[in-house]
Amino acid sequence: MNVAIDGPAGAGKSTIAKLCAKKMDLIYVDTGAMYRAVALYLLESGIDVNDRSAVAEKCKGAGVDIKYEDGVQNVYLNGTNVTGRLREEAVGNTASVTSAVPEVRAQIFSLQRGLAERGGVIMDGRDIGTVVMPDADVKIYLTASSEVRAKRRVLELEAKGEHPDFEEVKKDIEDRDHRDMTREISPLKQADDAILVDTSEMTIDEVVDKICSLCK
Ligand code: C5P
Repeated sequence: MNVAIDGPAGAGKSTIAKLCAKKMDLIYVDTGAMYRAVALYLLESGIDVNDRSAVAEKCKGAGVDIKYEDGVQNVYLNGTNVTGRLREEAVGNTASVTSAVPEVRAQIFSLQRGLAERGGVIMDGRDIGTVVMPDADVKIYLTASSEVRAKRRVLELEAKGEHPDFEEVKKDIEDRDHRDMTREISPLKQADDAILVDTSEMTIDEVVDKICSLCK
């Protein structure tokens, strides 16, 4: 069984997918982390990440690999485990710019297809149900209002000891949605056969139960 979960930034995809993976004994594949690893490489290379041809050329040097260690996905960039560095805001925002470049997507696509073909995965991202696993057994489009997503993100950052500005966080989320939904290649959209789950008014447990019951 393969499960695809797509949706905008901060909808709770990774939290939910991890818990569903445990309950259903599936492997959780976080595809955003792959785009983030490429973004980290590009940021560190010093190129202008808004220069699409420079990104197309430079990304060839980013060797991204995924390993499952103690049931957890670790992301390696040219042999170094970079998992702990991928959640920074700058990396996520850059990933949403550089993931629109076809050469970046082509590079990550084969890694994702390889994992999908092994089967038994719950994979989250933006184009999983539409492009990466169009044949997934269950497809979920997980969303929440930008207000709710920004509130969740602020709480997450505060728990890390940061003091984020709510309006700034909300604007980042909305800008990211806009980039992800309007890009030419593999834009974020609900697949025709995906089930919409709006988590704005739901608890984590309610969402997990709903998705697990849809997979029965
Ligand atoms: O999900 P996450 O916030 O980690 O994703 C970071 C960025 O990577 C997204 O904003 C999106 O632009 C890109 N991405 C994508 N396709 C995916 C997963 C992520 O384009 N399947």
